[in-house]
Amino acid sequence: MIYADNAATTKMSKAALDRMVSLIGDTYGNPSSLYTFGQKAKEELEKAREEIASLIGAEPREILFTSGGSEADNQAIISAARLGAKKGRKHIISTAFEHHAVLHTLNKLEKEGFTVTLLPVHENGLVVPSEVEDAIREDTCLVTVMYANNEIGTIQPIREIGEICRKHNVLFHTDAVQAIGHIKVNVKEDNIDMLSASGHKFHGPKGVGFLYAKKGISLSNLIEGGAQERGKRAGTENVPGIVAMAEALKEAVAGLDAYAAKLTPVRDRIIKGLSGIPHSALNGDAVRRVPSNINFCFEGIEGESLLLLLDDKGIAASSGSACTSGSLDPSHVLLAIGRVHDVAHGSLRLSIGEDITEADADYIVQSVKEIVEYLRGFSPVWRDLTAGKTKFIL
Ligand SMILES: *Cc1c(COP(=O)(O)O)cnc(C)c1O
Repeated sequence: MIYADNAATTKMSKAALDRMVSLIGDTYGNPSSLYTFGQKAKEELEKAREEIASLIGAEPREILFTSGGSEADNQAIISAARLGAKKGRKHIISTAFEHHAVLHTLNKLEKEGFTVTLLPVHENGLVVPSEVEDAIREDTCLVTVMYANNEIGTIQPIREIGEICRKHNVLFHTDAVQAIGHIKVNVKEDNIDMLSASGHKFHGPKGVGFLYAKKGISLSNLIEGGAQERGKRAGTENVPGIVAMAEALKEAVAGLDAYAAKLTPVRDRIIKGLSGIPHSALNGDAVRRVPSNINFCFEGIEGESLLLLLDDKGIAASSGSACTSGSLDPSHVLLAIGRVHDVAHGSLRLSIGEDITEADADYIVQSVKEIVEYLRGFSPVWRDLTAGKTKFIL
């Protein structure tokens, strides 16, 4: 099988898995317990916090462990909103193609009286920093823009956006779930106030993530209970998951250059190959994208059928995001970059991993070509297009 859905989740690295199993089996003490056996778990927990902090340019006390990327996004945005509301600032700026963990949290805040401005991401899937600045108002309390998009892989000008937010004294959060462990991220150099990350997107375990919040930012308590995570997030810590996440991040960050050097040419080989399919188009900027991401639209087909037939050929890919598959709505990300409904329906996301070979890449391209041609063969939409009854868009 060729696993090309690493943006949905990744396989755990051997080192992370070994650490996790060892902690589950042997270091099961409660980190809040005072005896040595509990304190051993506490030590592992704090070592993981230090490690993760140093890998992103933060301080240990600026790292809050969460149950994943979604929780970190919720926590960051709700906290910034509560802080803003105290000062009468109830305006938030974001983008149209954020993950639903961000967009749905913003929807909830709108119902509570906040105003949200969603910036356009344009045809190339990129936010224009000057448009962030233009959108900032007296009452803006937060700008939240994702680092790398989960569907089309485009990398935002985070440093510039952060600089603008600093200048205007507005908090800046970024959902960096698809960036951390895939490209270089440093919260200081990138002018980031808050950042969300998730273990299972960089070969760590599922159900564990973290939120970086610059010191001085007072986070809200999303979960009430004990004094864990400085009282901001009650509940006995997921020590094995957290330690395994730190191990995975250490490996990923150490291997960033090799990762880019290996994946970028394979990514571009697939992009070049798929571009040869008539009436197709790459989604998102060709250069400013993570090394793993390839996303295409093919006119006249349904992405779901393409996926199922790729599965028959042993290729695991995605159409739209996993969270929305099952619904018939086209991807909000593809609509945000201006794809019309019919075209957005025929989309394919491949997110490749380190184990991919050139032969795999060629097999993917050949398989997609054959399947697209086959599906078009009995597509009424394609028949109308080729008969000139409707016009080609791509
Ligand atoms: C996967 C993902 C999330 C959610 O992370 P979970 O750990 O699965 O909750 C949030 N944002 C982006 C961009 C993602 O890709």
